[in-house]
Amino acid sequence: MSTEKLNDPAARDVAALRQRVRAFIDGVAIPMERPGIAQDVDALDEAVGRLRVQAREAGIYAPQLPTEWGGLGLGWEACCEIFEEAGRGLLGPLALNCAPPDQPNMLTLLELGNAGQLRRYLAPLARGEKRACFAMTEPAPGAGSDPGMLRTRAERCADGWVLDGHKKFISGGVKADFALVEADTDEGVTLFIVEAGTPGYRVARDIPTITGYQIGGHAEMHFDRCKLPGAAVLGKVGKGLQYAQLRLEPARLSHCMRFIGRASRALELAQAYVQERESFGSRLAELQQVQAMIADSHIDLHAARLMTRHCARRMDAGLPVKHESSMAKVFVSEAVNRVVDRAVQLMGALGVSDDTPVSMIWREARPFRIYDGANELHRATLGRRILAHQLLP
Ligand SMILES: Cc1cc2nc3c(=O)[nH]c(=O)nc-3n(C[C@H](O)[C@H](O)[C@H](O)COP(=O)(O)OP(=O)(O)OC[C@H]3O[C@@H](n4cnc5c(N)ncnc54)[C@H](O)[C@@H]3O)c2cc1C
Repeated sequence: MSTEKLNDPAARDVAALRQRVRAFIDGVAIPMERPGIAQDVDALDEAVGRLRVQAREAGIYAPQLPTEWGGLGLGWEACCEIFEEAGRGLLGPLALNCAPPDQPNMLTLLELGNAGQLRRYLAPLARGEKRACFAMTEPAPGAGSDPGMLRTRAERCADGWVLDGHKKFISGGVKADFALVEADTDEGVTLFIVEAGTPGYRVARDIPTITGYQIGGHAEMHFDRCKLPGAAVLGKVGKGLQYAQLRLEPARLSHCMRFIGRASRALELAQAYVQERESFGSRLAELQQVQAMIADSHIDLHAARLMTRHCARRMDAGLPVKHESSMAKVFVSEAVNRVVDRAVQLMGALGVSDDTPVSMIWREARPFRIYDGANELHRATLGRRILAHQLLP
């Protein structure tokens, strides 16, 4: 850390907090990682419940939440450091309640919820007592990359709405207490809060994927003539797509922060491996091709951190980040995939086995190029905007 930063009390506080998070991740969260719980919704809920108690005792719980909601009230730039540190642990962000989907769900509720909704829905999420999910994606021919293809519909009725739809790949959907559901209406796309007990609300299955440590799995969900009260609308009728975009910008930047931590951990383990392992009479660390892979990974991580922090600083300053968060998402998701892939390669067969978390980190990193807007979509939008506004390089 620079001398200038050490003289800044706020930066010193964040550095001290970061140390506490590191100690917690290394001493408490990492020892609880087990391949057996990675895809077991109940075991994961149970482990996370225990970890949250300990995170609270350690004074590191919910770093991103305002203090009045039980958090530490950090700004986005400080979150870069803390989310990265938490992200080193496969259970870390869940333990600190700064993992998706509830981290961006809480943000959405904070931004849009009225007093009753904050009390009923945000408060238990903030306390870590309930879970929610965000349901936009649908099976073909419904919405995927193109939200304009939304098929889920909500029709007005005498005292509220009737919701019909089919959603897929909904993270956290299994055993969620409620879902934030994007649905089309005659007045435009609208965001609804749908409680799990509502007749017609059904989780069909947990879709097996290559990822792990996703609380509540990835659900396929049905909403069959779900009767919703008028109070189920979050924000304003007709603004659902705008809200989805607002949610996505900080959500994708937060993913960048956590994945930089994940990739750093994979690289730490690969570096330790090459220091020990020998081949043809020398340690792997002495081989130039190995050194180049390590150097390239540090370059990728350094650039990823700088892009993420630049965007976070703009968010703290209240500046628009549509362009910057897209560029950061594309670059960071590809950089962390390169870093983790090199870590796997450097560790040989061990790298693809469950005897190391590196294989799980590799599996978790791959979908990051698909969700939060597929990278091709971001490139298409960036390119169009750059050329339309004649933005100079
Ligand atoms: C692990 C994981 C978790 C997820 N969690 C959630 C969740 O909690 N809630 C939710 O609603 N959704 C979730 N999703 C779904 C995610 O948002 C979608 O996968 C994403 O929007 C892409 O939609 P699709 O999968 O239907 O891909 P498609 O729209 O079928 O696109 C397939 C591919 O086509 C290419 N493509 C598409 N459009 C363009 C274009 N315009 N230009 C160039 N290329 C293009 C891209 O390469 C893209 O990957 C999750 C997905 C994954 C993998």
